[in-house]
Amino acid sequence: MPQGNQPQTRDSTHLPSTEEMASFMNEAIQEARNGLEEGGIPIGSVLVRKGKIIGRGHNRRIQFGDPTAHAEIDCLRAAGRLQSYKDTILFSTLMPCAMCAGATVQFGVPIIVAGENRTFESSREFMEKNGVTVIDLDLDECYELLKQFADEHPSLWAEDIGLEHIVND
Ligand SMILES: [Zn+2]
Repeated sequence: MPQGNQPQTRDSTHLPSTEEMASFMNEAIQEARNGLEEGGIPIGSVLVRKGKIIGRGHNRRIQFGDPTAHAEIDCLRAAGRLQSYKDTILFSTLMPCAMCAGATVQFGVPIIVAGENRTFESSREFMEKNGVTVIDLDLDECYELLKQFADEHPSLWAEDIGLEHIVND
């Protein structure tokens, strides 16, 4: 065994059961709803390890005036420093964007469970190419929550995903 740092080995053998997936996604949806109540973009996320939530967060870019405060980043920050992410699962109500997919790959999160992938053309392929197991639950609840917000606030939504939007709202 060579000395020094080894690249993360992605182990996806701890796939959650259908019941666990539904239960943890409900927690992520609750985070999204908390964000909406604060006047923010309704996207929520939880980080799970060994059947327990170790971090939770929601998109706070409007609340914090921080363009990087996406739900997944907020959740990873809340979980704090971990020596390894190899036994974690990241749940998000929306398939991660390029930035959040980058964090997922960077830290070695092996499994992503997304609530939907319809609202936003995401970075699924990028994550899969880097060995991340990606599960899309394709839930109407997640889709409707964000779709309604995006329809009501098109420029806020465009800003969140780095697109230009010419209509002011
Ligand atoms: Zn993101």
